[in-house]
Amino acid sequence: MPESKISTTQRLNVLLRLPKIAVDELDAADWEKLLDELYWALFGSKQRVKGVDTTFHLAATKEGVKRAQAGIESQLYKLQKGKPDELAASFPLNIQALYISASKTGFVGKYFTNDLPSMVYEQLRFLLETPGLKQSDLLTCATDQTVFVPLRKRAKNKPVFCSQKCASLASARAFRDRSRSRSEAAAVMMAADEKGFGVVVHPERGVIALTKRLTPKQPTPTRDEILQTLRSEQPAKGKKPKSRSS
Ligand SMILES: [Zn+2]
Repeated sequence: MPESKISTTQRLNVLLRLPKIAVDELDAADWEKLLDELYWALFGSKQRVKGVDTTFHLAATKEGVKRAQAGIESQLYKLQKGKPDELAASFPLNIQALYISASKTGFVGKYFTNDLPSMVYEQLRFLLETPGLKQSDLLTCATDQTVFVPLRKRAKNKPVFCSQKCASLASARAFRDRSRSRSEAAAVMMAADEKGFGVVVHPERGVIALTKRLTPKQPTPTRDEILQTLRSEQPAKGKKPKSRSS
């Protein structure tokens, strides 16, 4: 992909990803970073002059960004899945002014608004109209469900990720799942060696459960029973308590 097309795609991705950003949770530095990205997506320039009351800065308040987020979020499905000529995504525009100026090569018109959602929607249209870009290019990240356009072609039927961070999270999760099933398999083997008690031994955490005392006639717990005990001992997925030492 040529450099200019990559940057067009990245700018489009800034707008598609916008609804995922928790604006109220951003600290001052992250908020400035978001404004930099938005400015770049809208105007193609990384030279945002901070602290000046430009139209952009007057419009890009947290309230303005949140309205743009809601507008995009509500229409993403139609952009991604709407059937051609049905289900068109719609975006309400604020009152705009049209400026037509003469240039050396002819006349050029430009719409002007001081409403951030209108700026964002208009630019979203412009970037989506990139020649060659199709609905099927709008993919969904397997980790956080962000809608994005990949910068290079992806293998079909493989999970896609919107960022390196999301890809790393997914591979860390897969690693955890694999090592958990290895731990479980080891626990079953060790429990099977025990005599008298049904003991569930976790390879890293030691004995984590004693089942009832077995009489000689009682059978050793089945593999499924041991696995069930082991699973009930583990913290529920996604509820891992945060470490307080950091
Ligand atoms: Zn993602």
